[in-house]
Amino acid sequence: MTRQAITLIGGGLVGALLAQQLAKRGFQVEIFEKRPDPRRVGFTGGRSINLALAERGLQALRTAGLAEDVLQRAVMMRGRMVHPLGGTSGLQRYGVDDSEVIWSVSRGGLNMLLLDAAEAAGVKMHFGQSLVAADLHSKRIVLADENGTLHQHDAPALIGADGAGSALRAAMDDYQSLGIRVESLGHGYKELEIPPGTGSERFAIEPHALHIWPRGGYMCIALPNTEGSFTVTLFLPAHGPHPSFDTLTDAAAAASFFRQDFPDLLPLIPRFAEDYDSHPVGTLSTLYLDRWHVDGRALLIGDAAHAIVPFHGQGMNCGFEDTVVLANLLAEAGRDTGDAFAEFQRIRQPNANAIAAMALENYIEMRDSVADPHYLAKRELGARLAERAPTHFMARYRMVTFTHLPYAYAFERGRAQDILLEQLLHGSTSADDVQLDAAVTTLQATLPPLPQLR
Ligand code: FAD
Repeated sequence: MTRQAITLIGGGLVGALLAQQLAKRGFQVEIFEKRPDPRRVGFTGGRSINLALAERGLQALRTAGLAEDVLQRAVMMRGRMVHPLGGTSGLQRYGVDDSEVIWSVSRGGLNMLLLDAAEAAGVKMHFGQSLVAADLHSKRIVLADENGTLHQHDAPALIGADGAGSALRAAMDDYQSLGIRVESLGHGYKELEIPPGTGSERFAIEPHALHIWPRGGYMCIALPNTEGSFTVTLFLPAHGPHPSFDTLTDAAAAASFFRQDFPDLLPLIPRFAEDYDSHPVGTLSTLYLDRWHVDGRALLIGDAAHAIVPFHGQGMNCGFEDTVVLANLLAEAGRDTGDAFAEFQRIRQPNANAIAAMALENYIEMRDSVADPHYLAKRELGARLAERAPTHFMARYRMVTFTHLPYAYAFERGRAQDILLEQLLHGSTSADDVQLDAAVTTLQATLPPLPQLR
């Protein structure tokens, strides 16, 4: 059966995966993508060079039949390798074994794989076509090509996967207010590179970890790339007193700051000055909308609907989870896109809000708490409770990263568990101070069992 025509704006990570899934379900899908075809001219991303793929994203890729292909080009990360200033580095494992790991993937490589898959499923692609206007009354859009030439296109059902700066969102907001709110984090980021090792070691540091250099108000992280390099990201206040991007105006100032704060990292980045001076400072914000859709005419998905800060490594994963929900709803709805769009927002918005909040909290955890003794005691007590009473305790990070439990559930349950851990620890910095049998009894009396995992 050939279903309705759907016009997608944006062929990034979410747009390409959604297009493939819709085409596989019989929809006639067209994508208009602003950039040139990355498979022809190379990927010109502008944002993070690599990303962490976790279970939710993987599950969507399994549904699309693409998980194995993606994993073949990914580097396994078993946990956080924490590098304290002047201390010894240590691995904090994410799960009990290698069944609970996350994967570092190249943004460009993944985008190209998804575009290939979408094309193979029958999606019609138009590159170098930027949405400049959308008239939702007449259901027509205006696109500009690379020379600035404008042309119009009929689009009875529009989906915007055009990212955090979505042009479709602006056009929808003109038609009917979406209640847009953007909250800037006030911190920015800059990417640097640790090149592949010379000699016998392909990787200069442990390859199977997400490295963190926590420094309280700021941090560096590094994710491995298959060819042996690491992409390092410095997260720092955008403005204000030292250290901020305001005060680190050039590579010389930044190098002196790194010598002080990241002395073990600086020697691993031989092109520090070139990277620092040539790479832009990225901005970080959370986007909230009251409405993600207008009638059955247009809907937003992925970052266009709910851009979040990157500290839980879930923006893409959440967007990938969106694609499965939406493709199923549209397939069930037949031609009534209005119901499917409304239902999509009803299901996904509370979850998007929950992961937005958890991502903000995780920044503090990553840059500060991972080196804090009370946090480590809580983590250890949580691990002991999870081992003794797995039906009643699961770390929030694990619920978010390794299960399909709704984000909103993970957020609420995590909060309840955290209150309990605080009560049990009474401010102590050692999990050994807590009598475990009594703690398990309190846990089981206080919280209902966790849902069965699929
Ligand atoms: P995008 O990836 O932004 O794609 C939008 C597409 O639309 C682009 O191809 C763009 O060219 C196109 N477009 C834009 N405007 C127009 C227009 N007017 N007309 C036509 N096309 C247009 N997520 C994770 O899950 N794990 C991570 O580890 C992670 N790390 C991150 C690190 C950083 C520093 C940042 C900034 C983000 C990170 N994210 C991570 C989040 C992730 O990058 C996003 O959630 C994801 O890219 C969203 O995909 P998208 O397709 O919705 O948007």
